[in-house]
Amino acid sequence: MEGGGGGEKRTMKMCCICNQRRPALKRPKTLQQICRECFYEVFEEEIHRVIIDNNLFKRGERIAIGASGGKDSTVLAYVMSELNRRHNYGLDLFLLSVDEGITGYRDDSLETVKRNEIQYGLPLKVVSYKDLYGWTMDEIVKMIGLKNNCTFCGVFRRQALDRGAALLKVDKLVTGHNADDIAETVLLNILRGDIARLSRCTSIITGEDGPIPRCKPFKYTYEKEIVMHTSRNWTTFQLNAYIHRMLTVGLLGSS
Ligand SMILES: [Zn+2]
Repeated sequence: MEGGGGGEKRTMKMCCICNQRRPALKRPKTLQQICRECFYEVFEEEIHRVIIDNNLFKRGERIAIGASGGKDSTVLAYVMSELNRRHNYGLDLFLLSVDEGITGYRDDSLETVKRNEIQYGLPLKVVSYKDLYGWTMDEIVKMIGLKNNCTFCGVFRRQALDRGAALLKVDKLVTGHNADDIAETVLLNILRGDIARLSRCTSIITGEDGPIPRCKPFKYTYEKEIVMHTSRNWTTFQLNAYIHRMLTVGLLGSS
């Protein structure tokens, strides 16, 4: 048995990228056993590849990062500012948030966005429904009831982001949509038989003929890996709260 001190020396399994540190995780995308440092490195450099291979940005462009305070946009804000610095993209980055005016819903997440503003040194613009449309989502719900207000939310949120982007005079808006979100949208559009949307929804850049082009640097990024990457910047408290929430809804389990 182990611990006896005799017999052959056990060879320690090492990270299959650096071969120097113990592996800390199995990468969902490639199933490689790697250390945390190498994971952050390959995760970020893959997004750099996606940005370069798809010509997402031009030097000197002003780019708004759609920031909801959720994990995807929080990681996106970090990765965008990090890659912009590391690879000298020459981009002017901004955080853009929408405040729908839903009591108790946005408060926490807006706090996260404000923290990102300080952490990454990115200017933040918050556009509120109250300022843009003259009413809050709370007031809408009071008028029409809870029923169907998510339809309003989708349309108004989209418009609010466009208006915010116009106010910031940015050239593009990046969003944190990941590979899982896109797969879900594909399925929905198949079920709805919406052929036009089906062909559009997988593009990495959309709305080039509209007021503001949108791009998705996380198009090929797995949701699970985004969750893993959050540990790079989240405080232990934030991470625990997130893991707890995911365990509660059954999105994270032992695999
Ligand atoms: Zn390593």
